[in-house]
Order: sequence, then structure tokens, then C-alpha cells
Amino acid sequence: MLTGLRAGQYGVTRPRAAGERAMGKTTPEWAEEIGRRLDGMVALRRDFHRHPELSFEERRTAEIVAERLSAAKLEVRTGIGRTGVVAVLRGDRPGRTIAWRADIDALPLTETLDLPFRSATPGVMHACGHDGHTAIGITLAEMLAARRREVPGTAVFLFQPAEEIFSGAKPMIDDGALDNPRVSEVYGLHLTTQTPVGRVSVRPGPAMASADFFDVQITGRGGHGAYPHLSIDPVTVAANILLGMQNLVSREVSAQETAVLTVGQIVAGTKHNIIPATAVMRGSLRTFNPAVREQVKERLGAFARDIASAYRAEATLGFMGVGCPTVVNHARESALVRACAVDELGGEAVAGESLVMASDDMSLFLQARPGCYFQVGIAPATGPTRPHHAPEFEMNEDGLPVALRLATRVMLDALRG
Ligand SMILES: [Zn+2]
Ligand SMILES: [Zn+2]
Repeated sequence: MLTGLRAGQYGVTRPRAAGERAMGKTTPEWAEEIGRRLDGMVALRRDFHRHPELSFEERRTAEIVAERLSAAKLEVRTGIGRTGVVAVLRGDRPGRTIAWRADIDALPLTETLDLPFRSATPGVMHACGHDGHTAIGITLAEMLAARRREVPGTAVFLFQPAEEIFSGAKPMIDDGALDNPRVSEVYGLHLTTQTPVGRVSVRPGPAMASADFFDVQITGRGGHGAYPHLSIDPVTVAANILLGMQNLVSREVSAQETAVLTVGQIVAGTKHNIIPATAVMRGSLRTFNPAVREQVKERLGAFARDIASAYRAEATLGFMGVGCPTVVNHARESALVRACAVDELGGEAVAGESLVMASDDMSLFLQARPGCYFQVGIAPATGPTRPHHAPEFEMNEDGLPVALRLATRVMLDALRG
């Protein structure tokens, strides 16, 4: 069951204890402002959940973002990175220029839970929490706009399309999302069902894996299954490359590093007794260390080529696009987020710094500017876990106030500098 949102939980509108410093923790005025906006944020999240849109098809979502933030008197630019939106808020006080990034796309899945706001679009579902990210981003921007007089510097909100295919960050950067005004730091969060509500995870350094999708094209010579010596069998070559690449991980990558090579698809042939002329293997590579990523990418091509050549076949390796680099959080900015989390939520709220095997093209923003991408818990209070990218995914909305509160604090502190 979905638990309804109760404003005031998790200390969002917690009364300030006597003698507590006004600075440090969000001031009572900001806490009230956050509290007032929680119901609206949840309603917004549910609306996005009901109307999910696939990568680079986020037209309705982007339109709502643009409408709401234009109404809040931000400077809004649409069509950034195809379907992305950039909204700029100039505070009345002097300060720095800081970006907040939220991804907005959904996944090709059919939702199985019978929520009142379940997806109205068959085969498309917000199964990663980006509906929540979008709602948090809008609410944060509206809230800062409403209190513009107290806001230092310039806040830039990046609503990024196509994160699920690792394709939205790059065109946004190419379209100047981080320039004009020139952004000096980038922050963002991912909601995660792997962490309980009220807890956050901030990891300096490598935090989320890189992802590269590859094809190995093998060319042999077709023939009769009874006369393999008259042909060059690409299926046997594929089998040997598949086993060889696992040795590449175990024999060439340091035991202290991490690399995962998975072949998810092998396509070859038509019938029991025909040796096909070609075979294709499709797989993915995940690493945490950019040097290991380059090492495996380079060696994988040589492995495939040389193993194929031992069988008189040819193999070529190709990567889809530029892939998604490791999310590497910067030390100073991670320390800021961590300090904000400890101060706002208490030391026990900052959970372990576990590596996340999933990937996220927030990494490209973090290559372009210093910043930090952190995780905020939305695990169900009871019942089964709700894995991301699963048709039964659902978030515990009680985590949303925690996310908004921490996001607000991080932005205010970073803007102030
Ligand atoms: Zn996802
Ligand atoms: Zn995601």
C-alpha cells in the first residue's frame, strides 16, 4: 500500500528546539515554505507518473516544467538537448551560479501495481523515480523563486531528457546548458528504493558505474552443418570470444578494481544444420575507474579480433555512442552535501557510501563542472522491495520531503558559497 504524504514528518516542519542555531539548519521560514509545498509536490509527481514519456519524447513533461517555471518568473529556455528545459532564477543577493539537475524521462514498461495514478500510457512507466525528480526540481525552483529576495546568486535548473538511454546530458551541455550564465557547480539527487526513507547516501569519488554497450560483428563463411571444414563457423568463434572476454576481466583487470562484461544477446543462423556466415554478440561493460574502462574497451577489440583470427574468421568491435562515464563526485562538493545532510537530517541519516552498479549520465555534467550526485531513500516501509526498472516499482512518497529539504539546503549553501 502506498502511504499518503503527511507534511511535518521527518522533521520537515519540525519546531525549532530552544537555543538551536538559526543558521545551519534550514531557517524556520524556509522550513515552513517547504512544508507548504509538500502536497503540491506529491500531486505533481503523481501527475507525471500518470503521464510518463519515453526518452526524447518528454513533450508534455517539458511543457509543464516550462509553464510552471515561466509562471514563477524564471528565465526559461526550452528545446535544450532536444526536449530538455533550462530555467534560470536570479536571486536578489550576491552569490554564485549553481545548477540543479533533474532527469525527466520514463521507461518502456507496463506498470503492474493498481495505483490510482498508475500510468495512463500503455507500455510506458515511470519506473526509476524520475517523476519524483521532476516534481522536486519544479518545487525547488518555485520555492526559491517565491523567496527570491533571500536567495544568493543564480540558480540554474536543468531538466534533462533521455537519461535512461544516457543520451540527454551531452546535447544539453552542447546546447550551452552550463553556460550563459556560466555554472560553477552542479548538484542533483536520485531517489532510491534501496535506501530507507530518511536516509541519504553521499559518496565522494566514483559513485556509479560507467556503462558502454558494444557489438561484436563476426564474419565467417557459411556452409553445410555436416562439413564444417569447408566453412568458417562464426558461432564457434562467438563462443570462444564470449569465454575469452571473461578471462580478460579476471586476468588483466586488477583484483582491486571492478569490471563487469555481460553479453546479453547472440544472434546467428537460421536452422539446425546450416553454418551461418555471420554472428553478432551484443553486450555491456561496467566499471568504476575510467582507466579500467579504457583498458577493457581497448583490449576487448584485440581479444575479439585475435580469437577470431585463430579460427580464420574476422571480428570487429563497435561501441554504441560514447557510452556513459562513471559518476565521479568531487570531494569538496560531496563534503558540502554530506554536511548539509548531517545538519538537516542528523548524522544517522547519512547511510553508507555504497557503490551503485547502475549508471547515470549525470556523470557528463560532473565531468564538465564540479558537483555531487547523491541518493535519497524511498524504500517501502513494509512489504516487498520495489526495484527500479521493474514493472512493480513504486516509491515511498514519504522520502520526497526529505529530498526537497536536503535539496533546498544544498542549493542555498552552494549559492551562498
Ligand atoms: Zn533508470
Ligand atoms: Zn534513474
